[in-house]
Parts: sequence; C-alpha cells; structure tokens
Amino acid sequence: MKRDMPASAALRCRVTAASETIIRRGHPWVFANSIREQNRAGTAGELAVLYDRNDRFLAIGLFDPESPLRIRVLHAGKPAQINEAWWRARLEATVAKRAGLLDERTTACRLINGESEGWPGLVLDRYGDVLVLKLYTVAWLSRVHLLMELLRTLNPKTVVLRLSRNVQSGFSESGYSDRQVIVGEPVNGPVVFLESGIRFEADVISGQKTGFFLDQRENRRLVETLARGADVLNAFSFSGGFSLYAARGGARSVTDLDISAHALASAQRNFALNIGDAATANCRHETIQANAFDWLEENRGKQFDVIALDPPSLAKRETERAGAIGAYQKLAASALAHLRKRGVLVAASCSAHVTAEEFFDAITAMAKTSQRTFSVFNTTRHASDHPATFPEAEYLKCIYLRFKP
Ligand code: SAH
Repeated sequence: MKRDMPASAALRCRVTAASETIIRRGHPWVFANSIREQNRAGTAGELAVLYDRNDRFLAIGLFDPESPLRIRVLHAGKPAQINEAWWRARLEATVAKRAGLLDERTTACRLINGESEGWPGLVLDRYGDVLVLKLYTVAWLSRVHLLMELLRTLNPKTVVLRLSRNVQSGFSESGYSDRQVIVGEPVNGPVVFLESGIRFEADVISGQKTGFFLDQRENRRLVETLARGADVLNAFSFSGGFSLYAARGGARSVTDLDISAHALASAQRNFALNIGDAATANCRHETIQANAFDWLEENRGKQFDVIALDPPSLAKRETERAGAIGAYQKLAASALAHLRKRGVLVAASCSAHVTAEEFFDAITAMAKTSQRTFSVFNTTRHASDHPATFPEAEYLKCIYLRFKP
C-alpha cells in the first residue's frame, strides 16, 4: 500500500479475484478482507474506484473505513463520472420504476430500496407528500446536503431524516440527528396516507423503521380476498395493516395481537380513520396486548378462520438461523391450534438469515405433523418497490396454507 500519495488523489482499490467476480455479477458489497491493494487510507463516504487485476475499471463505490463492509458499490461496468447530474438521473430512474404503484388510492410506497437499487445503505419512503429518508451508513454524511437538493426535486412538503442507531453519533458531530426535518415544514403528529384506498397513519418521527411496514402491501391485498365472513387473528399486528384489509374484505371480526400498546393504539386509530367504509364499520375490532408466543399457547379456546403471523425477525444473525427456524415452526404450530377446520394460515418471515425455501419447508413440515389436510395455495416474496437483487438483501417471504376438514 503506498501512503506517499497526496490525499487528493482518487482512492483506488484492487480487490481479490473472488470479489471481482461477484462485483461483475452485480453484488454491491466489498468487505475489507477482499481489498488487496489500496493507494492510500480513505475517509468515510469518499468515492473509491475499484480496478480489476488487469487495471481495468471495475466499479465505483462509497468507502467506509470503520466498517468491515468497506466499500458499497454505486456503479459497476463502464467508467462513470459521479456528479450531481449522475445522482439526479439515478433518482429519476429509481422513482420512475414506481410509476404504476402510486395513484389516488395508494399514496405511499418505498421509493428507494438501498443497495438493490444502487443506493447503498439508504432507504426512502413516501407517505403522501412526506418523505422519510433512512440512512444506515456514515458514508452518506458528506452527502446529506446533496440528498436534500435531490429530494427537493420530488416536491415534498417535508423530508424527515431517520438514522439507524449505529450511525447516530457519527452524524451528530455534523449537526444531524435522527428524526430531524431536513426539508420543509415540521411534522405535527402522524402522517395519514392511503394504501389501496385504506387510510393509515404513519408515525414518521418516532415509529419503527420509517413509520409503517410498506413491504407487506401485496400480502395485505391477498388477505383482503380471504377474509369474507371470517374471524381473523392478526398476530404481531403492529398498527393493524393486515386487519384493515381483512375488515374491508368483509371479516366478521378482527383481533389485533401485539406486545406494543403504542402499536395497538395506532391500530385503533386506523380503524377509526376508515369507519366510513361499511364493511370496516361492521367488523368487530378487538386488540390484545400480549406476548404473542405466550398468548397463542395460553388461550387455546379462541378459534379463528384466518390467522396472519408476521413476527419481527427471529434471526438477527447467522448463528440464530437454526433456532429461528424452530421458533417459526413452534409459532405456526401454536397458531394452528387456534385455526378452524377450513382455516387459512398466512405465515411471514422477515429474517434475511432464513431463506424462503427453508422457511416454506419448515412451515410445510410443521403443517404435515398436524395430521390435518392442507394445501399451500400461495407463496410470495418481495414486492416490486422492495426489490432484492442479491441474496443478503432477500428477507421477506410469506406462505399461505388452506386447511381442510
Ligand atoms: N404485520 C405488521 C408488521 C409487524 S412488525 C404490519 O403489517 O404492519 C412486528 C410487530 O411485532 C411489531 O408491532 C412489534 O411490536 C410486535 N412484536 C414484537 N415482539 C412481539 C411479541 N413477542 N409478541 C407480540 N408482538 C410482538
């Protein structure tokens, strides 16, 4: 490594052959131990130019000297000048992909989904005219101003900055903090938006993630079609996303089960927001604040026609993978004890460490041990506004089982 070059020289890195291969295939991550040569020490957020073993341009990415994930690729293939025009074009192209998703009935979706769309460590969600920008790496710190200028082109009323816990101290030195409004007007209270014609609130300032789980929209739409006349249990309900769809779909009753009183209060408000819909008004809505794992074990008497299970990630790291698979099976088994003879079980997993195949196999295997006849009538993965272009980015999967008497 040559350290005698002026700091202004472009940061150049040569990576291992294995890393070169996966970058060419479109993988966006370069770990520190894949860097063979580097012309000088780099600083956080600096652009690093990657070269192959023949000194040809390979890719350009964001450098992070603090992270084992040392470079996050922005662009691979032909050499490119990363300037403001380049960023504008990238934003336009990313947002344009959502053209068919947003309309007068759906005013919220994910606009940018991180490295799968060439925006490493960055997520942007739209809730009506409020944008929520969530950053997961200090590599963006020197570009917050650029991001503000770019996002203004989307004409938001407000842009809220959310910072993942591990980067908050890094940003605070430059005067940025989690929950800060970086463009436009302050946000007073929850933001109300539409998803498939249903009104929801998002707590964009202090809610989980960016305030709402936009990734489950397509599964919610499916649940709506299964709910006519049903008693529905929405376990790990959060703010009642699945429940509002079930209610509009004609459910007789919907029970929201969540450990968080805050989430359940939001579910109540979401029902109130949709009271103008006759089916929702006619649906009995109940909330239960409890640990869902315990509640499902301890309240065997309560029976439902449709049960949705959408727990938080049960495997936060690779070492927890096997345990998580067992936990998903146990959860589904205890849910099954609450499911009527012709019931439908909808089981989702958001653990990236558990693959879709593993999850589907585990839930199917559990159902087989129940001695009940069933068919798997659907499996789903990521929605189009949450694309995952490499294995580590794939987290969401959902399986639908219909039981028979
Ligand atoms: N299905 C929801 C998203 C679920 S997020 C939607 O469509 O919006 C996961 C939820 O599980 C969170 O609301 C969290 O409060 C809740 N949760 C976490 N651990 C729990 C537990 N042990 N029992 C019940 N709820 C739990």
